Amino acid sequence: MTSCIFCQIVKREIPSTKIYEDKDTYAFLDINPVNPGHTLVVSKTCSRNIFDIEEHDLAKLISAVKKIALAVKEGTGAGGVNIQLNNESSAGQVVFHTHFHIVPRFDNDGLHLWPGRKYQPTQADSIRNKISSVLNLTLLKD
Ligand code: AMP
Repeated sequence: MTSCIFCQIVKREIPSTKIYEDKDTYAFLDINPVNPGHTLVVSKTCSRNIFDIEEHDLAKLISAVKKIALAVKEGTGAGGVNIQLNNESSAGQVVFHTHFHIVPRFDNDGLHLWPGRKYQPTQADSIRNKISSVLNLTLLKD
């Protein structure tokens, strides 16, 4: 079976511009950066996204993201960073190997955050009840 493109990058089967590596984690520049220094951080263990990544892999991954985010901010001279994890194609995921985006952000860089929309009356309670009931079912199973 052909491994996914980010597994191939981790194994050096295809090239990347490496930013950081340790036993569990690999980070490299995004080939189509939102801003220069846009970095992707992946576990060496393949998972699809947040829905199937093992918790211990996620813990190591987010710990590396914290360290690399600071380096991206300092190294690029950014004022801040956005950290994003896309999960499934409806949410914009294109490469199905869990990866955090670290995007350096600059004042007036022309990028905008997600537009917020107001809830309709009763809509917030209704959606809260649906989400909470799934969480309660999960807790009952654990
Ligand atoms: P996502 O939409 O969260 O799945 O993001 C996938 C990201 O991977 C995109 O921002 C792409 O630009 C990036 N990408 C795809 N192929 C490569 C590659 N070979 N090297 C570096 N970045 C890549």
